[in-house]
Amino acid sequence: MTIQHNLGFPRIGAQRELKRALEQYWRGDSEFAELEQLGQRLRAQHWQQQAAAGVELLPVGDFSWYDQVLDMSATLGVVPQRFHWFGAEVDITTYFRMARGRAPGGEPVNACEMTKWFDTNYHYIVPELVAEQKFKLSSNKLFNEVAEAQALGFRVKPVLLGPLSYLWLAKGKGADFDKLQLLEALLPVYGEILQRLERSGVEWVQMDEPILALDLPQAWRTAFEAVYTRLQSRGIKQLLTTYFGPLRDNLTTLCRLPVAGIHIDAVRAPEEVAAVLSWLPNYKVLSLGVVDGRNIWRSDLAQLVQWLAPLKAQLGERLWIAPSCSLLHVPVDLAHEVKLEPEIKSWLAFALQKLDELAVIKRALCEGVTAVAEALDHSARLCQARKASRRIHKTEVKARLEAFDEALTERDSPYSVRSVVQQAWLKLPLFPTTTIGSFPQTAAIRQIRQQYKQGGITPAVYQASMREEIAFAVGAQEQLGLDVLVHGEAERNDMVEYFGEQLEGFAFTQNGWVQSYGSRCVKPPIIYGDVSRPAAMTVEWARYAQSLTKKPMKGMLTGPVTILNWSFVRDDQPRATSCLQIAFALRDEVADLERAGIKVIQIDEAALREGLPLRQADWQHYLDWAVRAFKVTAAVVADETQIHTHMCYSEFNDIMAAIAAMDADVITIETSRSDMELLEVFERFHYPNGIGPGVYDIHTPNVPTIAEMVLLMQKATAHIAVERLWVNPDCGLKTRQWPEVDAALQRMVAAAHSLRQEYGYQKVG
Ligand code: GLN
Ligand code: ZN
Repeated sequence: MTIQHNLGFPRIGAQRELKRALEQYWRGDSEFAELEQLGQRLRAQHWQQQAAAGVELLPVGDFSWYDQVLDMSATLGVVPQRFHWFGAEVDITTYFRMARGRAPGGEPVNACEMTKWFDTNYHYIVPELVAEQKFKLSSNKLFNEVAEAQALGFRVKPVLLGPLSYLWLAKGKGADFDKLQLLEALLPVYGEILQRLERSGVEWVQMDEPILALDLPQAWRTAFEAVYTRLQSRGIKQLLTTYFGPLRDNLTTLCRLPVAGIHIDAVRAPEEVAAVLSWLPNYKVLSLGVVDGRNIWRSDLAQLVQWLAPLKAQLGERLWIAPSCSLLHVPVDLAHEVKLEPEIKSWLAFALQKLDELAVIKRALCEGVTAVAEALDHSARLCQARKASRRIHKTEVKARLEAFDEALTERDSPYSVRSVVQQAWLKLPLFPTTTIGSFPQTAAIRQIRQQYKQGGITPAVYQASMREEIAFAVGAQEQLGLDVLVHGEAERNDMVEYFGEQLEGFAFTQNGWVQSYGSRCVKPPIIYGDVSRPAAMTVEWARYAQSLTKKPMKGMLTGPVTILNWSFVRDDQPRATSCLQIAFALRDEVADLERAGIKVIQIDEAALREGLPLRQADWQHYLDWAVRAFKVTAAVVADETQIHTHMCYSEFNDIMAAIAAMDADVITIETSRSDMELLEVFERFHYPNGIGPGVYDIHTPNVPTIAEMVLLMQKATAHIAVERLWVNPDCGLKTRQWPEVDAALQRMVAAAHSLRQEYGYQKVG
């Protein structure tokens, strides 16, 4: 029999139950025992739901208090020295201190670093390894959960992050060393884990090695064979699991490994299935991830069955089916959406619905299509209806893309000309000061927005309150003596949702939460159709803000690439096409802002880097269309209008050329945390336009000193011409409190004054 299994289930709960319980515990408002009870309840419920949906091998070990990579570190006893952990078992306090730098009953300490999990919006806690790293089985969590599931009568498949992926994702600390050298010390612990699982009666283990979807050095590829030969054991079968992309040059490596089965992502790389089949030894199980674990669309089941039936004939019970990857990356249950347009809802499948889809596929493969004729028919009809829906297809939008002309991406004149024209009216001093857009989102602001959303106050009252907030922010900035002002973004809940809600082609869920890190969840908008802009979105707020001051007011938009990368995207057209549609809609907004007299406009691209494909060979293509979309948005304005962009990260080195190609007049970036180290890239790469290396780290409540900020800017002058430098914080201020912000910006302005003294007063243009 073909086995229907699952690689992982969302742990946060359909109503974010785990989030609430975690935060309560962290605040000290509950005991760990209560949290544990909730965890146990959630696990049982999730196994139950998966089993009910037909999952035969239930994942265990996908549940986590914070992050599955951190769990692996705990299991392997990888706890950095600063946590002073010497115990036998990594306790919950140590665990949360590693994750967040603090925990009830523990001293504050520097948390471990967090970074993005492959190309998802999930973030994992980066393991820290030293050259002489020791490994020791130090957590029973996995074994306890296996026992827990077994006691409930479930057949389980424990999930482990494989040793090579674990090492790859870890960061070496201290003296330089080759992480592969740690395998000798690491593998015995994996061996011990497998043995214990075997003793508890487990038949299959899911060994995740997602790095097989990455560009690997030869030494790492070679290591795979040695590692899995060492980990071979007669009593337990391993399903070597890969996901998120094609295997390409790692394909034969995977197929040859001495394991009982392999899983591949047949959604991201359907074209590789044939090659894998031809390499697959005839004793191995092939698990195909055929239902998309990264997106929310219903699958076309009839089509999938048609594709899989010959494979089933060939492989028999060696063919397994599953979602393409863990379902961690999609919301739990569509049934909780009661406000979605029924038509749009009928096109969607969340985690539980995806498992139902697999059950239909399995029956079709095992019992024949007639057994599930109705379900197949239903699925085909809905997929067909979606394709043809008028909700999706807009002739004007398509026509505009068809008429696309490269000329739309270019400003009238090059930066050297524009900067002079802009300075002629802006008359900015040297080291002009500005901020990134948002000012503190106070409880009062959030309350008013909430009331408005729930219909508790009239649009007029809402507008008046927001205007008051804008006036307050503008007044504060004038008082501080900033040079280019912002309206403060009081009316925005979220930088993507705010625009998505006003654009056509976007839908929003009530409970479509996806874990981002720890207890943090996001509710990505769903781009379902051709994108258009029924009306101006930001112009009235900006115009009002400008009316309050003689200083230039900076209009504020989220860029097309960021909107795309933080949404669930259409699967019926390339991402590049969706991105360009958004770009055109935003281009009209930029034009409207300019017409309304807003002649400094910032287009945020906070998520541009996040969209980079996993394989370097695919980067250029992505960067080309991403940069093009940005330029389409921006290039509608006259030379005298100044375009800013903002990116909140500092790893630029490898995409510097693309960032320069965006041709923004000014870019503001994060640098304060890396102590301007980032600017070293400018030694090698001559960044041509204006740049504001953030001097104030808004991620902490600390108020930097004038001297610190002056020093950072002095460092910047070593790489960038003084006339092109701006002084600004490194991101928006929405998460901060006014007193800190006031104090920090006061000093920031003072720092700019002192720099002007030092470098001469008037900007030359
Ligand atoms: N303009 C946005 C703000 O200031 C930018 C946020 C971001 O970069 N993440 O909040
Ligand atoms: Zn930012």
